[in-house]
Amino acid sequence: MQKIQNYINGQLVSSASGEYLENVEPATGKIYSLIPESNSDDLDAAVAAAEAIQNDWAHTSLEKRADILCRLADLIDSNADALAKAEAIDNGKAISFAKAVDIYRSSANIRFFAQAGTQFSSESHAMGNLAINYTLRDPIGIVGCISPWNFPLYLFTWKIAPALASGNVVIAKPSEVTPMTAYLFSKLCIEAGLPAGVLNILHGSGQSIGGPLTTHPKIKAISFTGGSATGAHISKVTAGMFKKLSLELGGKNPTLVFADCDFEETVNEVVKAAFSNQGQICLCGSRIYIERPIYEQFKTAFIAKVKSLRIGDPLDPNTQHGATVSEAHLNKVLSYIELAQQEGGTILTGGKRHIESGRCQNGYFVEPTVVEGLDNQCRTNQEEIFGPVCSIMPFDKEQEAIQLANGTEYGLAASIWTNDLKRAHRVAKSIEAGIVWINCWLLRDLRTPFGGVKSSGVGREGGLEAMRFFTEPKNVCIKY
Ligand code: NAP
Repeated sequence: MQKIQNYINGQLVSSASGEYLENVEPATGKIYSLIPESNSDDLDAAVAAAEAIQNDWAHTSLEKRADILCRLADLIDSNADALAKAEAIDNGKAISFAKAVDIYRSSANIRFFAQAGTQFSSESHAMGNLAINYTLRDPIGIVGCISPWNFPLYLFTWKIAPALASGNVVIAKPSEVTPMTAYLFSKLCIEAGLPAGVLNILHGSGQSIGGPLTTHPKIKAISFTGGSATGAHISKVTAGMFKKLSLELGGKNPTLVFADCDFEETVNEVVKAAFSNQGQICLCGSRIYIERPIYEQFKTAFIAKVKSLRIGDPLDPNTQHGATVSEAHLNKVLSYIELAQQEGGTILTGGKRHIESGRCQNGYFVEPTVVEGLDNQCRTNQEEIFGPVCSIMPFDKEQEAIQLANGTEYGLAASIWTNDLKRAHRVAKSIEAGIVWINCWLLRDLRTPFGGVKSSGVGREGGLEAMRFFTEPKNVCIKY
């Protein structure tokens, strides 16, 4: 059985405890590799390695840092097929999606921030004839990056790339549920010549290694992406330690479909927004509000499109809808489908575990599910399911649509579908979210601020926001 290893001080090593967790392939339900269950001893070793190289890396020229990072991005590209396959096996996502989205974006993240590091600049503020201020932006030192399982390498690189490009040394923890591509990435770091200790990757559970990482006194900043409950826990346990925190958390995103939208394009894109990656994207639109005049027509076309999604073995290049990530998550999603019915919802399509034949007969597949007839306040419409389940509801007035959209504790993203220019801007301005898409979904420019409001998080990632998060500003004032 393949044993995943930690990456500490440039070496691939076992965990100090020698303990391993089982890693399951979601499409088959079979254990296929072992993950080191790291603890504070591994963390201490990683912190020591990071501390030893911290100064050197901070003073390595911007160009050299960028060169090394670009080599890493090139290595991801030249290993794209193997990485996409590994992601599909580890996560259950369709291999075509893994290649086009996850792996493509992983190298794009690294290349983008390698360049951002060379372009980043700080401010100066002149005080007339009296003085001038300039602001230094230095690396923070040792930073922690914790990422979730839904986009394993994509979100892992999204965090470590700006941290490294801005001169920090990093201790990263991928999700224990999907550790494989971060492990393969550590091998690429060795091949790319990343100096030992600059990046350390510790595998294991949230409890055993995630917790100690967030509270380690030498780790000065934490960039976390995951669930809102875990984010709240991290805020609590680090309160009083004065760490910099960036928290990218859950979502329960609204999709607003107005009667004047481009009908066919909207149907196609709203299906993608609800079900891409088996609905396991923090940005998925799982509450779909449709203006009443087109409600029935939209519903019919939407259901037909959802029914046409090809469910199957994630390794089949024709598969569009793979497995959910774990047995626990499968059960969570199924329990929400049950709840939706108890709350008075009608299942229009889906609603069950999908059983494949052959290799994937024990896989954790859930049919893409559409529910109708729920009240906005019910739990199904309020809580993040993070699976292939969406709820459709009619609305009459623009103001009502805005209220419905804003009526949850979350505020990550929204999409608006309309050809009325003024309304598009008006509604976008009124939506409580960090990201609003108009007539599109998940169209990403890496320079833009990314993150949420309310329970969806604190702080922003992306572009300059990430470079600012991973640097400490110091103002210097000189009197003339
Ligand atoms: P999670 O359970 O909160 O876990 C996220 C990461 O935190 C994992 O690496 C996890 O490790 C670790 N962790 C767990 N407990 C911890 C603790 N006490 N201290 C430190 N780290 C701890 O979230 P998930 O189930 O992996 O991911 C799904 C969630 O992520 C959804 O809510 C989704 O909306 C959100 N998400 C948000 C964004 C965004 O940008 N806003 C993007 C993607 C996903 P283990 O896996 O080993 O437990």
